[in-house]
Amino acid sequence: MWDYSFAIPSLLITTILLVFYFSLPRLSIRMNQVFVALLVVEGLTIFFDILSSYVDTEYREFPLAFVHFMNVFYFLLFFYRVFAFFAFFASVLKMLQVWSRFFKTLLRLPFIIGTLLAVISPWTGILYIITDNGYAFGPLYDALYYITYFYCAISFLCLFLYRNNVKRRRYWYSMLLCQIVLTVGIFIRKAIPTLLLYDTFCLMTVLIVYLAFQNPEFYLEERSSVFNSKALREYLEEQNGMLMHRLVGVVVHNYHNMRDAYGGKQMDLGIGLISDYLTHTFRNCNVFYVRRGRYIILGPWDMQVEETLKTLEDRFDKPWVGDEVNLYLTASYVHMELEGSIASTDSLLNALTESLEKADRLVGSEAICISADTLKEQEKENQIKRCLEDAIMDRAVEVFFQPLVDASSGRIVGAEALARIRDKEGKIISPGLFIPIAEETGKIRELGEQVFERTCQFIHDHDLKKYGIFWVNVNISPVQFFQMDMAQCYDEILRKYDVNPKMIHLEITEEAIVDDNLLRTQIRNMQERGFDFVLDDYGTGYSNLTRLKKCSFINIKLDMSVVRDFCKEPDEILPNMVLAFKSMNFSVTAEGIEEANMEEMMREVGCDYFQGYYYSKPVPGEEFWEKVVSS
Ligand code: C2E
Ligand code: MG
Ligand code: MG
Repeated sequence: MWDYSFAIPSLLITTILLVFYFSLPRLSIRMNQVFVALLVVEGLTIFFDILSSYVDTEYREFPLAFVHFMNVFYFLLFFYRVFAFFAFFASVLKMLQVWSRFFKTLLRLPFIIGTLLAVISPWTGILYIITDNGYAFGPLYDALYYITYFYCAISFLCLFLYRNNVKRRRYWYSMLLCQIVLTVGIFIRKAIPTLLLYDTFCLMTVLIVYLAFQNPEFYLEERSSVFNSKALREYLEEQNGMLMHRLVGVVVHNYHNMRDAYGGKQMDLGIGLISDYLTHTFRNCNVFYVRRGRYIILGPWDMQVEETLKTLEDRFDKPWVGDEVNLYLTASYVHMELEGSIASTDSLLNALTESLEKADRLVGSEAICISADTLKEQEKENQIKRCLEDAIMDRAVEVFFQPLVDASSGRIVGAEALARIRDKEGKIISPGLFIPIAEETGKIRELGEQVFERTCQFIHDHDLKKYGIFWVNVNISPVQFFQMDMAQCYDEILRKYDVNPKMIHLEITEEAIVDDNLLRTQIRNMQERGFDFVLDDYGTGYSNLTRLKKCSFINIKLDMSVVRDFCKEPDEILPNMVLAFKSMNFSVTAEGIEEANMEEMMREVGCDYFQGYYYSKPVPGEEFWEKVVSS
């Protein structure tokens, strides 16, 4: 009656898959656990399908109780498999975290009904009957199909409703394909139940899942037996909210230099040796390799960090010796506690990367502790990074203006353009926070250009000269000097808004990162196009008089800390310094004037211009303009 030609090969293939899957280390994330369950259930279901079909055919040969047992067990596995497929897709679609307990129970109901029907069938004959003529379908046999249809339909629906929860398009298409295969399979089973073909369709689905996202090698570092950084990310993402872990990071010092010294092959073998050592020594932990000789050991809450560090230090005191390897490596460590939830996996991974980087620079084998505060700071930085990227992309960088006041007339004669971006609530983020990030990420170029363009637009739209405003200062970061076509770029913007370059003064701070020659070449390029330069924040550390002489600035801005210190405790240094600047033909601006007496003191010192809250805070363009017009 039953045809086993599909079922037996399917069972063999499932067995191979099972053996292969269990022979590799598996990351204990929910999706993998559900997949293991799926694989085991698939194997068992096919096995019991074949067995129960045989027993049903040869029912006279077996005790009735055994025939019933075989059938009930098969039906139970059948329903469980249908449900396991659904649960797997729900976990990939990240629905398990979102659905309420009630909703989950509701969705489990058809599976529970199927299970109950299977269990009571020997007495009620509701799914199948064993009579003197053998096996026959019971009145509710079709429940098997309806329950499967139900889960197929719900899976399709979720797939469309929650498609954005899937990280990659490829995953989504793979899941769609799985659902189509399962649906076709169940229809074929309904049409030809004796062919035992549904098992093969389920196996096809398992294979698609395996190839698309469940191959354990996706999570393994290729050279070693440890997990990779993708695995670390997924593990942390899933555990977030219920973290109770201790983490120890290991950094092999100077990985690249060591690689050069020992050669790539030796080093790869060495990394393999360390990986094996870590996985074998810390068996109750997950070990991850995150590139360049950096490992993360994620252990349970009761992991003894001190002891772990001691074990590692002792091991790194000895060489790593293998068949073709003999490596002397040193390492340093980081450690942290992970409890409850973290704001985002990104910020944790960034904080980790940075701490590992810092640890790499340590000379000894000390350990750096990553505190909750480090994490919070990292999260804040990430948020600013996101706001900065959004602002640049949406061209939403704003420019505020702060007046520059002439010391002798007391009139506004210029302004400094200062960049502003906003957070999600519309609150202003201070440039002190986002400028360093923009410099670090290379976004400063676009940011600088947008500020420059907005300033040119402002100059173009307002008749500044009519109201006695002769220039606007725009800040540029020394990092921008690494962009060789900077002069041309700024020149084009000037032309676009028909602005005379003499209307703009470029403020730069001197920083050690830019080499003298590059600085001078770039300043000369810009000066050739008509721009004048102002030295900003004089007195904050990098300022260097010899360097100053080489670059022709037109104005020196004394940093507000210098101004403040002098006003608190006057000395001879500042007045002499200002005198020296003037003899070199630089005019001088005092920043950070907050009170009348500060203005008076800086006037006496000989400053030509003032800037500070005493006159106005930086304000949006139109507000600045109103101030100018009404003064
Ligand atoms: P900066 O160029 O020295 O600008 C002066 C800073 O001092 C401004 O801070 C201004 O608001 C603040 N300030 C002015 N008067 C007073 C005062 O009386 N008291 C106090 N406490 N502060 C005063 P802001 O706008 O936060 O800018 C900070 C820094 O960010 C700027 O320092 C500048 O280095 C940088 N920055 C701002 N916009 C840009 C830009 O478009 N490009 C680049 N590269 N850097 C920028
Ligand atoms: Mg400035
Ligand atoms: Mg300044």
